[in-house]
Amino acid sequence: MSKVIFLQSDRRQTLANAAPAEPLAPGGQPLLDTRRRPLRDLRISVTDRCNFRCTYCMPREVFDSSYQFMPHSALLSFEEIARVAGVAVQLGVQKIRLTGGEPLLRKNIEALVDMLAQLRTPDGLPVDLTLTTNGTLLEKKARALKQAGLTRVTVSLDALDEPLFERMSDSQVSVKTVLRGIDEAARVGLAPVKVNMVVRKGMNDQQIVPMARHFRHSGHILRFIEFMDVGTTNGWNLDEVLTGAQILQRLAAEFPLEPVASGYQGEVARRWRYADQAGEIGLITSVSQPFCGSCTRARLSPEGKLFLCLFATQGHDLRALMRSGGTDVHIAAALAGIWSGRDDQYSELRGQETAGREKIEMSYIGG
Ligand code: SAM
Ligand code: SF4
Ligand code: SF4
Repeated sequence: MSKVIFLQSDRRQTLANAAPAEPLAPGGQPLLDTRRRPLRDLRISVTDRCNFRCTYCMPREVFDSSYQFMPHSALLSFEEIARVAGVAVQLGVQKIRLTGGEPLLRKNIEALVDMLAQLRTPDGLPVDLTLTTNGTLLEKKARALKQAGLTRVTVSLDALDEPLFERMSDSQVSVKTVLRGIDEAARVGLAPVKVNMVVRKGMNDQQIVPMARHFRHSGHILRFIEFMDVGTTNGWNLDEVLTGAQILQRLAAEFPLEPVASGYQGEVARRWRYADQAGEIGLITSVSQPFCGSCTRARLSPEGKLFLCLFATQGHDLRALMRSGGTDVHIAAALAGIWSGRDDQYSELRGQETAGREKIEMSYIGG
């Protein structure tokens, strides 16, 4: 990937629907949106398919055998993904996360990891390259992913109790399979492994303390996620949200905890550690304590649309640009123009103003 430097003539080549882009001088000013947030993270959803049907994400009533997933020809190829990512890295992206759907279902995903691991920031640094997975294929794939250049993984696990896990994931997969995947990931060096638990009140909140107990002293970081109103199919209701503060209260009643300072701008989890050195936990409080003010994430959908918010209704089509012969300079101009016009802050407006809004599904855009 060549370095993107705008020439005078290139400035006129911005997309019709993108505002003119300011050049990003190598090592110069970062690209900012209208709320002065830089572009730092790119989440790439590589497929809209999944082998689970988590009730809060892909309820089977909607995602059944007649559901039309994207045909393979619609998906960005690995080369196209790496191209967009390479340009985004030149514009300020330092972290890339692969997600889905279930990203390990995408055939030969290690080849994409390998391509992304070659990218360098304008300062010559590699990107922080991570992946979020439900863990079913992780035991088999962890070593190849590590060898291809993946830095870390996040594994989703909502319960240790087998029948409850089966109900929540609406699958026949055993908790043990996911736990083996987590351990193998740590063993091959994809560590520290983060474990994501979505807490749905009345469903799995009784698992908060058992999950904490299980992952204490493991070196893995358990993160509790408030149930979010992503998409329009999961029947979200505020009454089913257990807030981060309530989760923390339950944990603190069992294990003394102390706060940990955030590691970098835009970190989504509020971090705590066990006072007895048993490790760290995180709380992702997008509903009760939104963090839009420091949100530096853009999201690329499986078929190449760039979304600026998890709750966006529309994306910007980069596939059409690439498939009609757009150069890297065109892609950079489009990205810069799109980002500089970004105003999104859904979670801070959540309520009357956002009620009834059409939203993309989590399984399409990734968490
Ligand atoms: N399939 C992979 C997995 O489950 O890890 C990656 C994609 S999944 C959409 C990414 C993350 O989003 C998972 O950790 C999942 O638990 C979380 N998620 C999905 N729906 C959610 C919701 N309604 N509220 C909060 N988190 C959600
Ligand atoms: Fe699949 Fe992940 Fe959604 Fe569960 S949360 S249905 S594993 S994409
Ligand atoms: Fe970022 Fe949108 Fe989430 Fe706010 S609601 S933190 S802008 S993705």
